[in-house]
Amino acid sequence: RELVVSFGEMLIDFVPTVAGVSLAEAPAFVKAPGGAPANVAIAVARLGGAAAFVGKLGDDEFGRMLANILRDNGVDAGGVVFDSGARTALAFVTLRADGEREFMFYRNPSADMLLTADELKVDVIKRAAVFHYGSISLIAEPCRTAHLHAMKVAKEAGALLSYDPNLREALWPSLDEARTKILSIWDQADIVKVSEVELEFLTGINSVEDDVAMKLWRPTFKLMLVTLGDQGCKYYTKDFRGTVPSYKVQQVDTTGAGDAFIGSLLRKIVQDPSALQDKTKLEGAIKFANACGAITATKKGAIPSLPKEDEVLRLMEKA
Ligand code: ATP
Repeated sequence: RELVVSFGEMLIDFVPTVAGVSLAEAPAFVKAPGGAPANVAIAVARLGGAAAFVGKLGDDEFGRMLANILRDNGVDAGGVVFDSGARTALAFVTLRADGEREFMFYRNPSADMLLTADELKVDVIKRAAVFHYGSISLIAEPCRTAHLHAMKVAKEAGALLSYDPNLREALWPSLDEARTKILSIWDQADIVKVSEVELEFLTGINSVEDDVAMKLWRPTFKLMLVTLGDQGCKYYTKDFRGTVPSYKVQQVDTTGAGDAFIGSLLRKIVQDPSALQDKTKLEGAIKFANACGAITATKKGAIPSLPKEDEVLRLMEKA
């Protein structure tokens, strides 16, 4: 059983055709399909792994386009349902000249937010070796209840639960609510990944020292990861911990790097779950995941940048 099932949102980012402008200044936008959970499923499939996506899209041109993108990339889209009354989510995203990312979401509500527990394709979820999710699907009902139910089904079927909160502050009614709801399902995960920014947001402390990260550790976790951009990542297990540096690359656009990282690591873990108890094996898997994140950061967009295995191995050999 090697299937990675990823649950949550898939949407279209509209990205300016020119770099370093505000949304208002952008002369035109191009479509960039994304949504972290969908990117993770595609990251796994791009590496030759089995992946499925579970979520809801609008029964519109964009929703059908996204479902086709999953299929064209080898992801099982049998867990996708369509809403006839709501649109596929859109987001306008720009990296301004001052380095700040600016988001404008069209989710009022979008189809992904309207997934109900009854609509879940539980047969897909029950086949998962790993069930992966974020926190955007926790924001609004009825999707929140569907998300919680999906976790329960996956856990009861013996899957490992993998959680990358992927904080998007602008989508939450308040930052307090974001923190509370993100942490409300914290203890149930087996594998957790946070970025430096999320570590600070969740702990209130601006530091990546081990004692700060350990505030997020739970005795039931099998693995916790703190990603550090071009510095690679820190990892924690019950018995050992460490830092694994990344590979030196020319950074162009980090969109999707975190998704490539966790998707490729999950691929390695389903292939050999004993890596969770073996320091050498785990560090090897994390090196591979760092290389996947690094390659994704060298190209524009998320889905087009996700690497195939041979590309990853070439970067690792060269270093
Ligand atoms: P996201 O930005 O997608 O929300 P994130 O903050 O977790 O997620 P990063 O920390 O930027 O993502 O990247 C994830 C991983 O990808 C890093 O831990 C690292 O291994 C690799 N990576 C990202 N950027 C670079 C880079 N410029 N050089 C080398 N490796 C990188």
